[in-house]
Amino acid sequence: MPDPGARRRAAPIIAIDGPVGAGKSTVAMAVAAALRYRYVDTGAMYRSVAWLAKSQGVDLRNERAVATLARSVSIEFVTANGRPRILVNGTDVTDIIRSPEVSHAASVVSAHPAVREGLVAEQRRLGASGGVVMEGRDIGTVVFPDADVKVFLDASPAERARRRYQELVAKGVRVDFESLKRAEEERDRRDTTRAHSPLRRAEDAVVIDTTGLTVEEIVNRIVQLARPPR
Ligand code: C5P
Repeated sequence: MPDPGARRRAAPIIAIDGPVGAGKSTVAMAVAAALRYRYVDTGAMYRSVAWLAKSQGVDLRNERAVATLARSVSIEFVTANGRPRILVNGTDVTDIIRSPEVSHAASVVSAHPAVREGLVAEQRRLGASGGVVMEGRDIGTVVFPDADVKVFLDASPAERARRRYQELVAKGVRVDFESLKRAEEERDRRDTTRAHSPLRRAEDAVVIDTTGLTVEEIVNRIVQLARPPR
């Protein structure tokens, strides 16, 4: 049944969730470009808070201290010379937040309910008027349970590990395949087993196994979901 909140929106909200390496970012960005919607990478927000905590020497396990940072931090998604950049309190962190150390730190700080509260409020604000593709772990379950389109992307473990490896190598990050695979499995384990807002598929989400599919095929499928045939 259509949700009354959803009907008030000028344009749809598309929620894309899934584990590490399922292809969320590539696909979400392409869907946003195809529909001319705004793209919101919520993982980058958790990564930004984790980076800030690390750079200030804050203990990642200290929920209160990290939540204080999350409430006061300025995270800006900007475009410089045609390229998307992320500024945290004015510092360009676009590349550094993709490092394996920050990936690990992000999954530690994201398990704190007080940290999530602050960021979820900001995510709801960013998506409130619709016309947005938001990707993360809890978008269809917690942030926008009334999203117009919910997609859960998945892929085989081998494919996900391969994609993550290639993503990092392409960014010039030196990593060992086996240790990256172990670290990412551990991150997925933490994300799916945490008590607060764990990664799980919303009951009404469309599951797309991206193994063996091209980006174009996946994007077309989601665009069709957003624009049902009349
Ligand atoms: O998506 P990405 O890999 O950039 O996310 C980094 C980490 O941030 C995840 O491993 C997860 O711990 C956390 N995250 C989250 N909820 C979201 C998005 C990301 O807990 N909506």
